Amino acid sequence: MKGAMMDSHDRIAVIGTGPAGLIASLCLAHTGHSVRLVGPAVDHADPRTTALMQPSLAVLEKIGMRHAIENAGAPLRVMRIVDGTTRLIRSPAVAFHASDIQEPAFGFNIPNAELNRLLDEAISEQPTIQRIVAKVESYSPAETGVRVRLDNGERLVCNLVIGADGRQSRARIAAGISHMPAPLPQSAFVLCFEHEFPHDNVSTEIHTESGPFTQVPLPDPRRSSLVWVVPPHRAERLLQTDDEQLGHIIEERMQSMLGKVSVAGPRAAFPLSTALPPRFGDRRIVLVGEAAHVFPPIGAQGLNLAVRDIADLTALVPQPPADPGASDIIEAYNRTRRSDIMMRSAAVRSLNRSLLSDMLPAQMARAVGLDALRRVGPLRDFFMREGMSPGSGFKAIRREVRDALREQVDRYRPRPHKPQDRRYRHY
Ligand SMILES: Cc1cc2nc3c(=O)[nH]c(=O)nc-3n(C[C@H](O)[C@H](O)[C@H](O)COP(=O)(O)OP(=O)(O)OC[C@H]3O[C@@H](n4cnc5c(N)ncnc54)[C@H](O)[C@@H]3O)c2cc1C
Repeated sequence: MKGAMMDSHDRIAVIGTGPAGLIASLCLAHTGHSVRLVGPAVDHADPRTTALMQPSLAVLEKIGMRHAIENAGAPLRVMRIVDGTTRLIRSPAVAFHASDIQEPAFGFNIPNAELNRLLDEAISEQPTIQRIVAKVESYSPAETGVRVRLDNGERLVCNLVIGADGRQSRARIAAGISHMPAPLPQSAFVLCFEHEFPHDNVSTEIHTESGPFTQVPLPDPRRSSLVWVVPPHRAERLLQTDDEQLGHIIEERMQSMLGKVSVAGPRAAFPLSTALPPRFGDRRIVLVGEAAHVFPPIGAQGLNLAVRDIADLTALVPQPPADPGASDIIEAYNRTRRSDIMMRSAAVRSLNRSLLSDMLPAQMARAVGLDALRRVGPLRDFFMREGMSPGSGFKAIRREVRDALREQVDRYRPRPHKPQDRRYRHY
């Protein structure tokens, strides 16, 4: 019975055609797996941009996408945090330079429409990815496989379902995983704008009482994207404001640091929420991307975390004939992803809370933290490395401590007697 099912069904189905589902399908295909990719037509008009950090670019390099993505994006060489709150306790500005940690750039900022288009093209060129343009209506997980019913009438049976179906994930519900959703009193207002002075590949995050206002460079030196976290009613007003007035508002908020601003192109507002399930896989279903973790867009963490979900999952999925949905694989995925997802979610949530909080201790903690980052070089280096990839800050500290110890040991190590030493020694 088990053998008959294995012959007729798919080993792996990826559900969802957002960036997480597309990247997951490509990573699995590049490691020799055949994949069914199910989801609606890919969104080629998403007005957002995504900052992909170096470790994510390294994963994309393995699927042959790094060059194209870097070409369509802008390098992020400096990231600056400015305290734009009007509170009693404010922090000084702090700037992080990629060159301080021997990187040419922290990452690249790419328009989502371009990113999705490039990934979509790569999918269509990949013979081992079978694309089904449909939505999943229901899942029935069982011991030997998951039955999946699609809204076009098709039915699949799969050993492993990868749920990349976003924050309202049905795959998560079918896996029996709750995710404790919490709406936030914030929306992300996004658009792209032109400015008088070149951005010099500097991104500036201005902290305000409603959340961060983040300018991120685009490939044109006089064009940037904006993610402005505001209360939902303010986002509604900003959506209605005419271009000229909106340009003034943005220029004023940036204290004219890029000169005159003119607004171009579409705008959108995304309601924000958080969600964090206690585990990321069960019943032959694993979750990646926003199906597994949702938090506000602070410090460009969301899709970068998703790429790490995918890299870890790809390393765990066994080659045929082994069962990719076996319980030990699902458990290994849960174990591997737990600390990274928990730590990133906690860090982003607490920074967001400290901005929203009127409490003096929260404001003090943020101000002291940012001031320490500004003044203490090694601490700043540690945060830059950890911000890009978990564990790399610790590795660098271990390396620095090891090098410092080696230097000390070398200094006191007895020198070997060289013949010429004796010749020139004075008594
Ligand atoms: C304003 C803003 C700015 C951001 N900036 C950054 C950034 O700079 N860097 C960064 O790393 N992250 C950033 N993020 C986070 C990032 O955008 C998300 O992490 C990412 O989009 C999540 O991708 P996803 O594929 O998991 O989900 P989604 O993009 O939501 O895709 C889910 C997919 O599943 C499909 N789907 C849903 N239900 C079904 C179903 N039943 N059957 C089949 N398919 C289904 C949907 O149609 C969709 O295609 C930002 C987020 C916001 C809101």
